[in-house]
Amino acid sequence: MRPVAGYAALHPAAPLTRWDFERRDLTGTDIAVKVSYVGVCHSDLDALRPGDRSPDTNFPLVAGHEFVGRATAVGDRVSKFEVGDAVAVGNIIDSCLECGPCLSGKEHFCDHYPTLTYGGVDRFGRRTQGAYATEYVVDEKFAYSLPPNLDPAGVAPLMCAGITTYSPLRRWKVGAGSVVGVVGVGGLGHLAVKLARAMGASVVGFTVNEEKAQKAMALGVDEVVIVTDDAAMNAQFRRFDFILDTVPVVHDIDSYLRALKIESALCSVGIVDQLRFDPINLIVGGKSIGGAGSGGTVETKEMLDFCSAHQIISEVEVLPIDAVNTALDRLSRAAVDYRLVLDVSMLGSN
Ligand SMILES: [Zn+2]
Ligand SMILES: [Zn+2]
Repeated sequence: MRPVAGYAALHPAAPLTRWDFERRDLTGTDIAVKVSYVGVCHSDLDALRPGDRSPDTNFPLVAGHEFVGRATAVGDRVSKFEVGDAVAVGNIIDSCLECGPCLSGKEHFCDHYPTLTYGGVDRFGRRTQGAYATEYVVDEKFAYSLPPNLDPAGVAPLMCAGITTYSPLRRWKVGAGSVVGVVGVGGLGHLAVKLARAMGASVVGFTVNEEKAQKAMALGVDEVVIVTDDAAMNAQFRRFDFILDTVPVVHDIDSYLRALKIESALCSVGIVDQLRFDPINLIVGGKSIGGAGSGGTVETKEMLDFCSAHQIISEVEVLPIDAVNTALDRLSRAAVDYRLVLDVSMLGSN
């Protein structure tokens, strides 16, 4: 076993504390990754502070499922990586590799459910623990080369937030001439804005107040609509080819359905408890609602190549790993501009 230092919640909603644990020994196709930066995702907050949403008895829990680092050891059958290579890993670290979705590179849709980076069980029966830790062990199939021209800290969030927004933009064929709406220009939404613009779309951001509107404009959206402005919302009628809704709390989506062109789709990626809408707004105009989250190995690599070619990274604020509780508190209050990333380099050396 490989000793690892991390930050864990020992019980649901407990503050994270230093916690030592073990990773599995490397199989022939595993690599060990010394973690340098790990993003703080809204899913981490939900897992660490489950409340009555999905009570989780699997504690202690180490979160963190969007990270970058360097390979420090490789199994004897590893072909993609050598010791010293910079790598990136996202929120899926294994799958059955035999079902239809897996064979087509869509491992995130594995018929037997993929193994999640934390809170899952690997094929050796061990619970997975995330990357708020010094080291991660992963099969090379689910590790990716870090694009050398991109800032590593800004790449970490691409591995969850990036692929979660890239995948639906591709599935709904966003491209030159598309008019795309992005609801909520935060951790997920700001990457949707950057990606959709790089794909050639014009992008309208839907935000809740003037301050956020200013920030969205600075980020490069073509236009902002403040969602409490009824006249402005009504003026969006049948304007959009596609709307990506990234808001993580329950909200009414009828006005967005009306804002879609006929036979167009809204995709929800915010993992809300409930989608609230009047079905008449699907029937009138033949609208669709879809969902997306994460991505398979083929599309994740494609996303990284796309981001490298277009110089796209997440807007990040880097905090030291020992500030992880502050980071989670700020995320819970939405007091974050886009994405917090933890610098893990000091962990284990003190
Ligand atoms: Zn995530
Ligand atoms: Zn499968």
